[in-house]
Amino acid sequence: MRTLLSEAELNAGVQKLASEIDSHYGIRPLTVIAIMTGSLVLFADLIRRLSMPQRVGVVQASSYRGGTTSGQLQVDDAMMIEVKGRDVLLVDDIFDTGKTLDRVSGMMLEHGATSVQTAVLLHKLTQHSVEMRPDFVAFEIPDEFVVGYGLDYLDMYRNLPYLAVLSPAEIEATAAESET
Ligand code: 5GP
Ligand code: MG
Repeated sequence: MRTLLSEAELNAGVQKLASEIDSHYGIRPLTVIAIMTGSLVLFADLIRRLSMPQRVGVVQASSYRGGTTSGQLQVDDAMMIEVKGRDVLLVDDIFDTGKTLDRVSGMMLEHGATSVQTAVLLHKLTQHSVEMRPDFVAFEIPDEFVVGYGLDYLDMYRNLPYLAVLSPAEIEATAAESET
C-alpha cells in the first residue's frame, strides 16, 4: 500500500476545509449532512471543527457495487432530517464523476432547502460527468483508487488513519479474501 496522504496531512486538510466553511457561513446555523458511508471519518472530524450551531444528519448513497469503478447510484434518504428552509452543507469523502453530490444536492432542493453547498475531502482529477463542482475541497488527487480515512474497498480499510493507493495485487488479494 502506498501512502498518498499521511495522518498529519489529512488533519491539516480538514482544518483548512473547516476554516473555509467557517469563513463562508460565519455563525449562521447550518444543517450538515454526511453522505454515508465514505464520509464517516471526515464528518466526525469536520463537524467538531466548525463554529456555527449545527443540525446533523445522514443520507446513504452507494455507487460502487463491490468494485473499483463507478456503478449504478442508489440513494436512501430514510434517515434524513428536515432540510426545509435550511442552509444545507453536504459532506462526502470524494468527488469523482460527481453524480452522487449532483443527485443528492438536487434532492435537498426538492425537499425545500434554502441553499445547498458541498464539501469533500478529495477531488479526483478525472472527467466529471456533471456540471456541478464541489464548493469546498481539501485535496486534489490523481485518478487512482484510494482507501483509508473512511474510504473502502469491499467494506475494508475505512479505519486506516491515512489515505493509501491499493496496488492491483492488493486489490486482487482483498477480493479473493472477501469471497471466503
Ligand atoms: P461519484 O458519484 O462522484 O462518482 O463518486 C462518489 C463516490 O464514489 C464516493 O462517495 C466514494 O464512495 C466512491 N469513490 C470514488 N472514487 C473512489 C476511490 O478512489 N476510492 C474509494 N474507496 N471510493 C471512491
Ligand atoms: Mg460515497
